[in-house]
Amino acid sequence: AVVTRFAPSPTGYLHVGGARTALYSWLVAKAQGGKFVLRIEDTDRERSTQPAIDAILEGMQWLGLNWDEGPYYQTKRFDRYEHYIEQLLAEDKAYKCYCSTERLDAMREQQMAAGEKPRYDGHCRDNPNVSGDRYVVRFRNPQTGSVIFDDHIRGRIEFANTELDDLIIARSDGTPTYNFCVVIDDWEMDITHVVRGEDHINNTPRQINILKALGAPVPEYAHVSMILGDDGKKLSKRHGAVSVMQYRDDGYLPEAVLNYLVRLGWSHGDQEIFSVDEMIQYFSLDDVNKAASAFNTEKLNWLNQHYMKSLPADAVVPHLTWHFRDQGIDPSQGPALADLIAMQADRVKTLKEMVATSRYFYEDFSEFDADAAKKHLRPVAKEPLLVVQQRLAALTEWTQETIHETIQKTATDLDIGMGKIGMPLRVAVTGSGNSPSLDLTLAHLTQQQVVERIETALA
Ligand code: GLU
Repeated sequence: AVVTRFAPSPTGYLHVGGARTALYSWLVAKAQGGKFVLRIEDTDRERSTQPAIDAILEGMQWLGLNWDEGPYYQTKRFDRYEHYIEQLLAEDKAYKCYCSTERLDAMREQQMAAGEKPRYDGHCRDNPNVSGDRYVVRFRNPQTGSVIFDDHIRGRIEFANTELDDLIIARSDGTPTYNFCVVIDDWEMDITHVVRGEDHINNTPRQINILKALGAPVPEYAHVSMILGDDGKKLSKRHGAVSVMQYRDDGYLPEAVLNYLVRLGWSHGDQEIFSVDEMIQYFSLDDVNKAASAFNTEKLNWLNQHYMKSLPADAVVPHLTWHFRDQGIDPSQGPALADLIAMQADRVKTLKEMVATSRYFYEDFSEFDADAAKKHLRPVAKEPLLVVQQRLAALTEWTQETIHETIQKTATDLDIGMGKIGMPLRVAVTGSGNSPSLDLTLAHLTQQQVVERIETALA
C-alpha cells in the first residue's frame, strides 16, 4: 500500500512551497487509497518552536490536508534512532570517529586550499589506533560504485559514492543527526513515496545508502522544484503573502488556494479548475514540472472569485463569517450571508474585500466616502433625494421590484437621468459610490434604514 508523508521542520509558518509539497504528497496517498503521514522534524531544538508547530497544523487543517497518522515528533523517537546507531556500530556499518575539531578544521582548510570539496578523509574509518572520550559516529559509506534513483519529477539521478563522505549519524553528545532520523522514520513509517523539496536532492543518495545498510526498502522519490515570485526571484515576503494562513487572513478560500497550488507546477491538459476529487483523480507525480514555477497573484484572485461564485453558499459562509468577526462586524444584523455572496461575489476578489465593501448592510455609518459625497451629494441632489425618500417611505411592499419602480418613476417625474438620482441615493444609503445594483442593495436593507440614511445624508 502507498504511504506518503509530509515532514516539515517547525522553524516557521507553513509557507506556500511547503503547502504545495504537502498537497502533492497527500494527493499521491489519496489517489492510491493509501495513507498520509504527518511528521514533525523538530530535532533542531534551537530553531524548532511550538508556535511554528501550531501554525503548521493549523495551515494543514485549514487546507483540508488531513493526515491519517501522526503527527509524529522526532524528538519523541530518540530511542529508535539510538537503537539503530548501536546496531550499525555492532555490524561495523558505522564507526566511532575521534577526530578533534582542530584536526577536522585543518583538514578542511587544506582541502579548500587545494581547490577540493571538503570531505572527511576517513582517518578513523579503519584505524585501530584511534581512541578518546569524545567521538561521533560516522556511517561507513560505500567507497565505490554509485547511487542511482529514478526521481518521479527529475528522472534518473546518479551520484558517485566517491562524492559522498562518511556522514556523521550521531553527534558527540549521542544525539542523532538529521539525515539519520529521516531514514529511520521513513523506514519505520513504511513510507513508499518521498515527496519533498529539491533542496533535499543531495541528501537522497546518503539516505539511500543508509537504508540499504539497514536492509530497509528504498522508497520512491519526487523532488519538487522551487516556487519563484512573479519577478523570477525566490518567493519571499517581498512578494506578499508566503504563509498559508496569511492567505486565509487576506480572504482566500482554501479551495482556491489548493487549486492554485496544485496547478503551480502541474497540469492536466488545459484544465484550470480542479475540485479536490478531480485533483485526486488526475494528479500524477510524473506530470509535475521540473522547472521552477512562478507565483501569480492574478491567477489566485481569479480562482478565488471563481470559488466564491460557484461553491455552494454553505461552503463559503463559515469562511465569510470568520472575516466578519475579523473585521469586528456582526453578520447577523443584515442580509443572510448566502444572499450577500450572491450579490457581491462578482464584484470582489476576496472575502476580506467582500466584508469591507459590505459593512453598510450590517452597520449604520456616520461618514461618507469623501470623493463620492463630494461628487454626488451636491445641492442639486437634494430634491431628487427628498422626493424618492418620501416615495420609498410610502411603499407598503418593500421588494426589489417596488423599489426599482419607485426610483425609475421618480427620475421620469423629475425629468432627470437615472444617474442623477441613482448615484446620490447610493451614496446616501451605502456611504460609498460602489454597491451592487441599487434596487437590490436597498431591498437588502430595511425600509426604515433606507429612509433614515437618506434623512442623514440630507441633513
Ligand atoms: N524537514 C525537511 C524540511 O522541512 C523535509 C525533509 C524531508 O521531507 O525529507 O525541509
